[in-house]
This record gives sequence, structure tokens and C-alpha cells, in this order.
Amino acid sequence: MQRFEHSTDRETVNAARVRALEALLIEKGVITRETVDKIMAIFATEMGPFNGARLVAKAWVDPAFKKILAEDTMAAVKQMNFVTKGAGAEGEHMRAAINTPEVHNLIICTLCSCYPWPILGLPPYWYKDPSFRARAAREPRKVLSEFGLNIAPEKEIRTWDSSAQIRWFVVPERPAGTDSFSEEQLAALVTPESMMGVATVKPPTT
Ligand code: FE
Repeated sequence: MQRFEHSTDRETVNAARVRALEALLIEKGVITRETVDKIMAIFATEMGPFNGARLVAKAWVDPAFKKILAEDTMAAVKQMNFVTKGAGAEGEHMRAAINTPEVHNLIICTLCSCYPWPILGLPPYWYKDPSFRARAAREPRKVLSEFGLNIAPEKEIRTWDSSAQIRWFVVPERPAGTDSFSEEQLAALVTPESMMGVATVKPPTT
């Protein structure tokens, strides 16, 4: 989907650029091939939206945990047995914005691309797009509608600007039809987009 006007060969061009950079950094002895593999592995297994999804699912089934997540997010994160406990790697101070029937939350970084890596992984390209960053602050309702998310006019939209100090994520609302779901089944429904606030969690398809 071309939400924010990028050339169609963006992925190919970027992949080529990354390969060239990697080759050069290895050739100059700045990094080794193992460094790159190690970092890739961390984002595949330790830091990613799979952590955020577990936080959200736990908040859905455990009101006491949800309260801690809202009031002292890092205390809630530390209760989870994530490999990365939120220390370092852009996760020292993460905050949860809880969606309710009255309020929809959206996360952005107006300055650059601050993002809670330990629980959401790396941000998608459009999160860094200058027009997304500017417009999401100015006209969030319109931007969300371009993502296919139409927020009812009576519902308030709160936009949270992440920074080097605080990195925000959204706890979406639990979808209907999931009363019998286990925490694990619930976590499987939670998408990165829903934890950024550009989507809701869809009810399960039967
Ligand atoms: Fe930033």
C-alpha cells in the first residue's frame, strides 16, 4: 500500500545499499559478519512485537497487571521473562497508552524514529516518514483513516510523541468473541500495527 509515496523499488534499492554498507564495514574491519548475524538473531528471537503481544494479552486477562502496565510500565515489563528486560537498546523507559471505548491512542516520533525496540522490534519505514510524522501530529484522524482505521467522531484520539526519554506503545482493546481464548491465543491476535495505534485488533475469524 502506497500510503506515503515511496518508489516501488524502495526495498530493492535499500537492500542493495545495506549489502554495500555491510561489505564495506566488514572490509574495513569495523564489524564482522558474525556481528550482523547476531543482531539479526536478536531482533528475530529476543526483541520484537512478540513481546508486546504477550504484554497486551496479559493485560487483557489480568486487570491488576493492566493497572501496573498503565501506571508503571517498566515494572510490568520486568515481571515478564523477556530475554531483554527493557534495559538498553531503546527500552530503558517505555510507557503504555491504554485504549478504551472513549480514547484511541497513537504513537509517533515527531523528531526521528524513537520506538520501543524490546517490545515492538524495529519500526516500519513509514514510521520514519517525515510526512507521517508531521501529519499524524496535526491531523491524526485523517491519517488513521488513510490506514483504513476510521475512529468514531465522538472518540478522542491521543497522540504520544516518543523521544530519547520515553518510548510509547499502545495497548489495543480486546476484540469481541475472545472470551474463551487463552493468553497465548490472544497474543497471536495482536499485531505490531495495533500496538502503534494505526489499527485495532480484529476479532478472530471463525
Ligand atoms: Fe526519535
